[in-house]
Amino acid sequence: MDYMKKSHVIFFASYLFSQNNFLVDHEMVAKIREEGFQRSKIANTLSYMTDVLGARLTNSDDMRIAQDWAIKEMKRIGLKNTKIEPFMDYGVSWDNEFFSLHLLEPDKQVMVGYPIAHTPGIDGRKQLSVELVEIKTKGDLNKYKGKLKGKAVLATPPPKIDLDKYRTGTPRYTENELLELSQKPFPNAPRPPRPPRNPDLVSSIERNLFFKDQGVVAILESSSGWIAAVRGFARPGAKQDKWGRQETLDHLPIVAVTPEHYNRMVRIAKRNIPIKIELEIRTKIGKNRRKARNILGEIPGTDKKDEVVMLGAHFDTWHASPNASDNTSGVAVMLEAIRILSVLDIKPRRTIRIALWSGEEQGLHGSREYVNKHFGNPNDPKVGQKSSYNKFSAYFNQDYGPGQYRGIYLQGNEHVRQAFSSWMKPFKDLGMTTISSQSACCTDHIPFDRSGLPAFQFLQDRVGGTGGHTNLDYYDTIPIEDIKKNAVIVASFVYHTAMLDKPLPRKKNK
Ligand SMILES: [Zn+2]
Repeated sequence: MDYMKKSHVIFFASYLFSQNNFLVDHEMVAKIREEGFQRSKIANTLSYMTDVLGARLTNSDDMRIAQDWAIKEMKRIGLKNTKIEPFMDYGVSWDNEFFSLHLLEPDKQVMVGYPIAHTPGIDGRKQLSVELVEIKTKGDLNKYKGKLKGKAVLATPPPKIDLDKYRTGTPRYTENELLELSQKPFPNAPRPPRPPRNPDLVSSIERNLFFKDQGVVAILESSSGWIAAVRGFARPGAKQDKWGRQETLDHLPIVAVTPEHYNRMVRIAKRNIPIKIELEIRTKIGKNRRKARNILGEIPGTDKKDEVVMLGAHFDTWHASPNASDNTSGVAVMLEAIRILSVLDIKPRRTIRIALWSGEEQGLHGSREYVNKHFGNPNDPKVGQKSSYNKFSAYFNQDYGPGQYRGIYLQGNEHVRQAFSSWMKPFKDLGMTTISSQSACCTDHIPFDRSGLPAFQFLQDRVGGTGGHTNLDYYDTIPIEDIKKNAVIVASFVYHTAMLDKPLPRKKNK
């Protein structure tokens, strides 16, 4: 009996201890909710960024203007140690200043499109015949030799519009779907391997070189299956030649056209009826190579001020719209979260640092270079581990559109399950209920995670916005109530991480 009693006491004590590790500061949660819901500034921030600043292609002049604003905004909300941190040679700047495309024959129509990034403009306004070109294999090239000089080409197969998505939209997660997500084990199921590339197929780089060789004036394409939307990316090969000025000038202009307008031209061409368009593209291409930059700001810590908790989102966008969902909404959430903490004058134990990355859309460059420089990567001998590696606690990221948080991905780190379960409880009424042990992929928490540093992406409803990377991603389709909730939740998670006795636990296999 004695023995039993003793073990009970020990069990109870260790139970209490483990429970106490990640207590919720309910008074602070109340203050955060009050500030975040009753005095929210997030709609104003999102509107300023999307309406006044607009698109922010990495290293564009547009981006520079927006980054200067971000630094001023961080200072205005009381952050310290604000800085612009250059991180890697990102080639020359690229900004489109004017674009117009009209169908002239066989009918007159304004057409909606957008130049692809890192392609040149054209000299003045040009009237061009349009030729439908169907090239898949190397053998197809011969059909068009000597036939394309001075023309515009319809270069991609006509996209099919996804009408189901148009009719049904994207619903919020149901309780059943969330339950399923909470039960999926880690690691995630591997992606099926890509089939080997057929060497006879013509790549987009080879195809565009052929067009250039044949004297084509402009390439028209459409890859979006989304109603009325242009998806705007960069010229194929731009990343490989590191966004070079000469390579950009040497390339043909490429214009992405909405699927309806593009497909109309394809159908006319298939009737063998001549098509004429008028096209003008004015684009500013920088003279000198320069570095891309991340933006940082802090609420300094107190007794553990040399340790850090980070929150962030990618500040860069593709260029065809302000990309309200991808990722202006994430930036607005993180700026609002740190504004809430700054206003509440919380005196965190650890330093809280916000990072607004760039170069995410081209391959997580900003966050990766930052992690390598400041914390290092023990898994990469070329980088190695830096002395501040063990001063890092956690990074919280948002980049899955503007939908509200329904939970968080553990990223395979079971050691934080208890903390996150505890900190999530005060937000059950907001729909924040689910812990998934799975890893979320493909955005700025990944470079931290690869280095063995705790870094997390929230589990979000996939609502709001018209989808990233389009010309239609504006303020109007952002659910403001959703992002208000997100800012409150991330502020609380960051606060509680900053106040712990120890840094947030790490995965043991790294
Ligand atoms: Zn994004």
